[in-house]
Amino acid sequence: MTFSLNKEKENIVAAIALRIRQSLELEIILNQTVAEVRQFLQTDRVLIYRFEPDWSGVIVVESVKKPAHTVFGFKIEDPCFASRHIERYKQGKVHILDNVEASNVSPCYADVLGAFEVKANLVVPIIASEELWGLLIAHHCDSPRQWQASEIQLLKQLSIQVGIAVQQAELYEQVQSLNTYLEQKIKQRTAKLQNLVQFETLIRKVTEKVRDSLDEPQILQTVTQEIGRILNIERCKIELYDSDRTTATVAYEYTIELPDCQGRVRQVTDFPELDSQLLQKQSLQFVEKVPELKPLKTQATRLICPIFDDQGVLGNLWLLRPKEEFFETFEIMLVEQIANQCAIAIRQARLYQQSQVQVQELARLNLLKDDFLRTISHELRTPMSSIQLASETLEVLLEKEMGENKSATFTRVLDIFRSACHRQNQLVNDLLTLCYIDAKKETITMQWLDLSVWLPQIIEPFEERINTQEQQLVVNVPPRLPLFKSDASTIKRTLSELLNNACKYTPSGETITIEAQPMQDGIQLSVSNTGIEIPLSEQQRVFDKFYRIPHHDPWQFGGTGIGLALVKKLVELLGGKIRLESQKGKTAFIISLPCETLKNEL
Ligand code: ATP
Ligand code: MG
Repeated sequence: MTFSLNKEKENIVAAIALRIRQSLELEIILNQTVAEVRQFLQTDRVLIYRFEPDWSGVIVVESVKKPAHTVFGFKIEDPCFASRHIERYKQGKVHILDNVEASNVSPCYADVLGAFEVKANLVVPIIASEELWGLLIAHHCDSPRQWQASEIQLLKQLSIQVGIAVQQAELYEQVQSLNTYLEQKIKQRTAKLQNLVQFETLIRKVTEKVRDSLDEPQILQTVTQEIGRILNIERCKIELYDSDRTTATVAYEYTIELPDCQGRVRQVTDFPELDSQLLQKQSLQFVEKVPELKPLKTQATRLICPIFDDQGVLGNLWLLRPKEEFFETFEIMLVEQIANQCAIAIRQARLYQQSQVQVQELARLNLLKDDFLRTISHELRTPMSSIQLASETLEVLLEKEMGENKSATFTRVLDIFRSACHRQNQLVNDLLTLCYIDAKKETITMQWLDLSVWLPQIIEPFEERINTQEQQLVVNVPPRLPLFKSDASTIKRTLSELLNNACKYTPSGETITIEAQPMQDGIQLSVSNTGIEIPLSEQQRVFDKFYRIPHHDPWQFGGTGIGLALVKKLVELLGGKIRLESQKGKTAFIISLPCETLKNEL
């Protein structure tokens, strides 16, 4: 009998120890423990009592013979318990009462036992992590009972196992909460990283927009919207200072549901502390009552970053969040970067607008100038024709009256008069051609031109001058240059003007060269001269109307600066192009003229 009892006892201990190793569910282990102990002891109630920090306690698990014996969930507050038993239990002492009524227990303990109808009582402490955690208790309610040493031994052994289970469960709980904590941390970090990535994207997007666009409203509206969306904030707005920074106006705004304040103007003097910091280019963050939300009496966190560049502060970027949500350092840094981009966008857009105004003004002035030019050329034309006619008539009359008798001085004065008339007429005609270049198109007559016959006629009027100025003239035309189809008078006017310039600007002793050569789809003509260069910075401008390079006129012939402008227009009228190459002491004007060509048979 003793042998089988011992065997059963060993089995129970082994089964519970195994369960503890296999399971982390403390509640299940405890329930099974009390059930098996009650079965073994054949008693009315077995329970586990867990201490609270103040040494009161709760019955957390029980096994009862009759439902009427249940005491589950009871909270026991025995004022005498702590002083009498705790120290003993902590040392692992067992409390054995075979007959409650016959023993001399303290009244408060007797009350507790009486309330639970306990006749015999066996209590074993449960120690977990070297702390007194609770008690494993067997109650006999029908009659007193003499507890056997083996029974006491079993409870002692089981209480050790329960202690291990409790410790194990507590450790598991700690690991679990540590896990939850770590998971939360990882989630927070991931969210932060995602935010960072989104922010980086926003900065890139804004930077690209600023680079590609000059549309200030579009850029700044996008900025407020994207910041609002990415930071998930209630409101984002951009306010701009006026030119003397006395007022600030909300120019762009993103808001979810708050009343919007776009267009609202505030006086800088109303918030001296705030603006003095912002105007010193410093961001700030604070919690403040929001005037717009007065009825709701809500507070909010505000972040304000000034929008500035090296020329000063232009405005501020405001962000609003619920008061308990602060802006983190990395967010502030990123918002500041965006504010920088906003400053670039605003500055760029304003410069562009200014330049547009200037461009329009210049275009208007140009139109006025053209109008003036047209009127003046017309007005000059009639008197010039009369003067020319008068000079020719005068010449005829004088010839008739005086014949061979007129003096040499007379003849020279007449020559000067004639050539001045011719020059003046030429100038008026050139001006009219420039003003009415489109009309000139109508007068173009295409014909086959043979340069070998034609060029000497163009050069002839310049020969004497070239000799007098001690310049050399080289004509470089291949013997069988093809005939080409073009307008003779336009080609003549163009080459004459280039030759005229070459004579005017070539120092004595230097060379003027006229060249012609066939191209794949036309002909190339060039007039070049040595001894003078046109600086790179002037090379585009020499083709502008009325432009002359200052101090660049070695013979002091003067001029009006329309020669090259006219040449360019005429070449373009024929569908050609003119370019200037000037380097290493040589200046060349090269005309490429696409045109029909014909093999020269002569
Ligand atoms: P205009 O031709 O109206 O009498 P201009 O000769 O000064 O006056 P353009 O023919 O338009 O005006 O020439 C513009 C400027 O270009 C000249 O003032 C001169 O400084 C420069 N230039 C033109 N041709 C040459 C050249 N062959 N060599 C050096 N400089 C030249
Ligand atoms: Mg000229």
